[in-house]
Parts: sequence; C-alpha cells; structure tokens
Amino acid sequence: MSARPKKSFGQHFLHDRHYIDSIVRAIAPRREDFLVEIGPGEGALTLPLLAAAGKLTAIELDTELIPGLRERAASVGELHVVHADVLKVDFSAMAHSHGVPRLRLAGNLPYYISSPILFHCVEHAPAIQDMHFMLQKEVVERMAAAPGSKVYGRLSVMLQLACQVEPLFDVPPEAFRPPPKVESAVVRLQPIPRHELHDARPEHLYAVVKAAFGQRRKTLANALRQLLDSEAIRRADVDPRARAEMLAPADFVRLAKVYSSLA
Ligand code: SAM
Repeated sequence: MSARPKKSFGQHFLHDRHYIDSIVRAIAPRREDFLVEIGPGEGALTLPLLAAAGKLTAIELDTELIPGLRERAASVGELHVVHADVLKVDFSAMAHSHGVPRLRLAGNLPYYISSPILFHCVEHAPAIQDMHFMLQKEVVERMAAAPGSKVYGRLSVMLQLACQVEPLFDVPPEAFRPPPKVESAVVRLQPIPRHELHDARPEHLYAVVKAAFGQRRKTLANALRQLLDSEAIRRADVDPRARAEMLAPADFVRLAKVYSSLA
C-alpha cells in the first residue's frame, strides 16, 4: 500500500500515533473550519483531521500519492485534493472563492522548502486564521528567537511582525518513515490582526531586514550603507553603531518607514 518515499519531495511520513494525535489535538479542528493541509502525503494527518472536520482541502505536489489518498479518505469525509506546488497557491483567492474569511493551515512540511513556504504564508496572512506546522526544530527555534539570540535573524523578524509564534512540542526522527537526519518540532502561528499590524511597505521592510542581517557582524551604519546613512538610522530612533541582532522587530519597522520616506 505504501509508496517509496521520495527524497526530492522531502517525504518523511509520520507513523507515530502519539505525535499524530498530539498534532490533531493542537489543531482542534471543528466542523465550521476551512482546513487546508500542505503536503498530505499518505494521509497520516489528513485522515484524522478529515474525521474531525468533515471536510478538508489538501495540496499535494506528488501525483503518485493522490489516488491512494482519495481512496483512503472516501469513507472518512469530503476530501478535496489540489495537485499543485504550494508556493503557487494563492491562499487569499482560495478563501475568497469559498466565501470564507480565513483558512486554517496545517502540515508536516517538506523541509527543503520550509522557509519559502513560511514567507509565502506570511504574504497571505490576512486570509489565514492560524497555522500548525511541523518543521525542523532548528527552524522553529529561529522563528521564535528573541533579539540577542545567536539564531535571531530574518526569519524571526519577518514572522514575528506578522504572527504570534508559539513552539508547541518536539518530535524525534523515529516518528517518521524514513527518519529525517534532524529533530523536528511543531509550531503554531497566529497572524496578528491587520489593524494591529505595522504600516511599513513590505518590500522596504524586506530590503532593510535582508541588508541588516546580510552582514550581521557589522554595525547597522555599515550593513545598511546602501539604503540608509547614519543620520537616517538615527531618525528611526536606532543607534547606527548597533548590530542587527540586537534590534527588536519594531525597530526594523521604523527603519523601513524612514527608508520609504527617502525612496
Ligand atoms: N503529511 C504527511 C505525513 O505527515 O506523513 C507527509 C509529510 S512529508 C514531510 C511532505 C509532503 O509534502 C509530501 O507528501 C510531499 O510530496 C509534499 N510536497 C513536497 N513539496 C511540495 C510542494 N512544493 N507543494 C505541495 N506539497 C509538496
């Protein structure tokens, strides 16, 4: 029944009942939810989620897995499979076309594209109610890191400006078939309501954060030289002698706003 897991698709199938149950409990699906699973694979999470919610949309890139998934789901609930690369899925359009205000996303993500998937979801944050993702533990640590931490960086700032980041629990390699080489962890992301969001232009925020952490050992005066001079950095209420890793996410927003005013 089981297909041979494909490395190129980042396939590591969950088989440990304890962790599957813990993830489903953390999601706590309800009948009124519009649940979307990224990378259903052979259905380890799909089937219990479907049983609880009654319906579910799953996005899977590997065509070979789809017939088996449909077959297993048939007696459980209403499964809608979208054969696509998740990075090309417009979640805002999906919510709109189904007449729902926001989607609930879940998935044991393919690790080879976990950061691009996270950035893609952040772009659609207003159309998302929450996300429960399995990721490499090291990625979850970076997402939740505070200023001053060695792993605080671009991912921490961009995610924390858009979402509340809540690491939930760790999952060992043996819970998967085949076991990945790394530890995993489950994280909950809850987009911050739009009215509480900063109003910096996304492309300017992105540029400032990228430049600042591109040379994280340098002072901001040096790292941001192409975008802002010391005087402009001071105008954002930031010390040009500081390094990116000491700045709070809100500091980057002020820097981006000054950059917008000059661009
Ligand atoms: N959810 C299953 C489980 O927990 O056993 C499978 C998880 S496996 C880590 C990742 C899944 O994502 C695989 O089914 C893989 O084929 C799928 N996948 C890989 N790249 C993808 C992409 N770009 N878009 C959608 N699905 C993708």
